[in-house]
Amino acid sequence: DAIIVGKANLDEFAMGSSTENSAFGATANPWDLSRVPGGSSGGSAAAVAAGMAPISLGSDTGGSIRLPASFCGTVGMKPTYGRVSRYGLVAYGSSLDQVGPFARNVADAALLLKVISGRDELDSTSVNRPVPAYEKSLDKPVTGLKIGVPVEFLGEGLNGEVESAIRRGLEVYKAAGAKIVDVHLPHTEYAVACYYIVAVAEASSNLARYDGMHYGHRTAEACDLVETFRRTRAEGFGEEVQRRIMLGTYALSSGYYDAYYKRALRVRRMITSDFEAAFKQVHAIAGPVCPTPAFKLGEKMTDPLTMYLSDIYTISVNLAGLPAISIPAGYSKSGLPIGMQLIGPVFSEGKLLRIARMHEAAAGLADRRPAVVEQAMGGA
Ligand code: GLN
Repeated sequence: DAIIVGKANLDEFAMGSSTENSAFGATANPWDLSRVPGGSSGGSAAAVAAGMAPISLGSDTGGSIRLPASFCGTVGMKPTYGRVSRYGLVAYGSSLDQVGPFARNVADAALLLKVISGRDELDSTSVNRPVPAYEKSLDKPVTGLKIGVPVEFLGEGLNGEVESAIRRGLEVYKAAGAKIVDVHLPHTEYAVACYYIVAVAEASSNLARYDGMHYGHRTAEACDLVETFRRTRAEGFGEEVQRRIMLGTYALSSGYYDAYYKRALRVRRMITSDFEAAFKQVHAIAGPVCPTPAFKLGEKMTDPLTMYLSDIYTISVNLAGLPAISIPAGYSKSGLPIGMQLIGPVFSEGKLLRIARMHEAAAGLADRRPAVVEQAMGGA
């Protein structure tokens, strides 16, 4: 019985990390209007941060819920692959996509997750497992909590302010009696390369249906079949989407399939095994969501590779199919929110939400509003 108040902006076909690849134009970050809200579900995060709605939905193929949640100071959760039905979601990378909640606090995220979780006959990848009442046990702290910090996540390339926010977050857990230990995810350095083969390969296959016959846009200009396909796709897809279709088609083409796609699948298995080994020692893994706080609008638009690198800490979670949540961990000196990521074993959403709540209750960072929102509300 929720009331749907609107549809939010996002990167075209959920491809991007900044919401700038949208045919509707970019979305601004409510905390600093000259900066991006993160992507690809940036509109959903910005809407919640700006108080337009208490909760919203996004999809996360490689970080598109967690990254905008981090940049906009909201809670954002990517559930285990199979927890939530994707019926009605436009497919991007079908072995990676999951729908999940944005909210201003952990309790609202838990409630929304419960509502959207469970088996759906219309999505064969949705799993038939009971859906716990996530919101009911939130205030039960996890006893004997052990949190692992991947050594590979706190190294080179991490912004100093992000690192200190994460370290402060870990202190909160230490003060609550948790044990913080180092863990290793040795294949992290291959995650971006692996993801940007698997995701674009699946995208090129999924987007083949947009041919001017089955779905969406159809060119008015063409006179024969091949020309119709060609013009429809050139007119209808934005630059980034075209780039990905070409990369994906290349990776799947005969002669290159073994060298790229098949090898990427092997690397994916290794990344998954790294997590499985780590979860033998710890309940959850904590680290940054993104190497930096929100960057400037336009800053990374001319350099796709730099944009792809924003996803370095989030994409391995999708490759392994795990649940993960971004929670507000602090603010930069200039007042930009910084998120902390908590990752758990498959179907550990309940525990992960409780661990997130432990931080939220102690750190008191939930429900803060950007200055523009405070002013608007004060003036109203
Ligand atoms: N930024 C990543 C990409 O562009 C992730 C996007 C997503 O999760 N939808 O593919």
